[in-house]
Amino acid sequence: MEKRMNEQELLDSFDEALLNNHIFVVYQPKINHATGRMVGAEALMRWRHPEYGMQFPSEFIPVLEKSNLICKADLYVFEQVCRLQRKCIDEGRHIVPISFNMSRYDIYNNNYVDEIEKIRAKYDVPVKYLRVEITESSAVGGVELISSVVDKLHELGYIVEMDDFGSGYSSLNVLKDLNVDIIKLDMRFLSGDIGGRGGTIISSIVQMTKWLNTPVIAEGVETIEQADYMKSIGCKYIQGYLYSKPVEEKEFIEKLDSIEHEPVGPAMDLISTMDAGKFWNPESLETLIFNNYVGGAAIFTYNKNGKIEILRINQKYIKEVGMNQTELDILNSDPLNSFDDENKKIYYDTLERAIKSEDEETCETWRHLYSDCCGEDTICVKSFVRMIGRTEDQYIFYTMVQNITKEKKMYEDLYESERRFRFASEQVNVYAWEYDIDTKEMRPCFRCMRDLGLPPLLKNYPEPAIEVGIFPPDYADMYRDWHKQLEEGVGTLEGIIPLTVGRVPFHVRYTTEFDENGKPLKAYGSAALVVDGEA
Ligand code: C2E
Ligand code: CA
Ligand code: CA
Repeated sequence: MEKRMNEQELLDSFDEALLNNHIFVVYQPKINHATGRMVGAEALMRWRHPEYGMQFPSEFIPVLEKSNLICKADLYVFEQVCRLQRKCIDEGRHIVPISFNMSRYDIYNNNYVDEIEKIRAKYDVPVKYLRVEITESSAVGGVELISSVVDKLHELGYIVEMDDFGSGYSSLNVLKDLNVDIIKLDMRFLSGDIGGRGGTIISSIVQMTKWLNTPVIAEGVETIEQADYMKSIGCKYIQGYLYSKPVEEKEFIEKLDSIEHEPVGPAMDLISTMDAGKFWNPESLETLIFNNYVGGAAIFTYNKNGKIEILRINQKYIKEVGMNQTELDILNSDPLNSFDDENKKIYYDTLERAIKSEDEETCETWRHLYSDCCGEDTICVKSFVRMIGRTEDQYIFYTMVQNITKEKKMYEDLYESERRFRFASEQVNVYAWEYDIDTKEMRPCFRCMRDLGLPPLLKNYPEPAIEVGIFPPDYADMYRDWHKQLEEGVGTLEGIIPLTVGRVPFHVRYTTEFDENGKPLKAYGSAALVVDGEA
């Protein structure tokens, strides 16, 4: 008869279960999905009651934890693992490290680490064949205790794995305080399909772990799509039903012999010009800066096939170049879709330059954006890119962006007015400008900008030109009066004015443009150097 035992029944039969192997251990392989080889295994506790059948760990483990029996049970599991490893060593098999689960109640038990060391000594198993899995929930109520246990395990040579990473909201905080060696990322905690938000979160986490130089094992992997996806983002170690359910000892030994094995390698090489780990800590200075002080910024990966994936953006990034897209729209879209081939090439070239120089590189690219609410738009973006990390098959970039569409359009308008004032540029030493009578805005020609250092747009003209001394003080009032006359509708104005600090005489002219009702719109100004004899 299959039956779930209630709490009392579990407690009453616990001692007998331990004694008679009703409680036993199963093993689930950890596989390198890139090679199919076994890199380790996890020991999991099982309880099969002779009458009531299999009991679920999710049900009996909390009962054992509540009643302080979990330590005894976990030490039993650990002893079984040591016994198996000893046996396999003696039989000359290739073996893999086996991890065992450490409950947070084991951590509260001061002697726990001493107890496992006693057992390990009894079976004389090298510590490299044993690994500890702890869960982030062990840090509930403070990280100090667990962190001291982790240190103690490290001193003894154990590799410590962080179990169920991603299950708690504080994962990142726990990680920064706990010096774990491997992270186990449970796919089941990250709901949502891997193509959508779930995938974005997973890839961000994997990326972050690369920055921390910590290998990741994905657990709960049930489908080949999940496994391939994880491999594609750089996480090749996998534990889950896809490769194997937890199996009993005999079957595990068969697998050990039939599946080739290899060690869990270190995380991919990473060169880093900044402490990227801090970047993911929500309370770090780096994050504060990222969100508040740097303008539009993003972090993205660029892989060797030319694929770009945005991992993180700040709010100002959305304001700057996002139009009315949401953060999610941006994270989920292929950023290269908005580039045409020419601009794509400019961008790629800049990335390649930044990889070589390991320094900041800049470029200007036009992008064609589309959003549901605002329709289409073409914008010009100035990007400052810097490579901040490199893994086996991809680069990590930090970019700052500026939307320079307005400035670009202004320059284009200037080209246009420059063309209209062709007469001015055809002559040597002629300067030209356009004065908007309504707004008092002045747009100088390129030569004015180049020779006189003027910006593309001067407001409240002519005051700024008087201020910087292009028009000398004794001519200022006369020049102001010209602009009053333009407002009143005078058609042309001209005179000789000594310009700039050098007081070089120029022939200055204005011609007014009127609308169909005779209202003055614009005045076109020019200043031509007075040639000898003219004055
Ligand atoms: P866990 O440490 O996260 O163990 C992984 C669980 O995921 C196992 O459940 C395993 O059978 C299951 N699993 C593995 N691959 C897949 C998959 O592809 N799909 C699905 N749906 N599940 C998969 P299990 O054995 O039922 O253990 C549940 C939990 O009980 C463990 O979670 C662990 O927290 C605890 N536990 C198990 N054995 C021990 C032990 O010896 N000591 C302690 N303290 N806790 C244990
Ligand atoms: Ca585990
Ligand atoms: Ca787990």
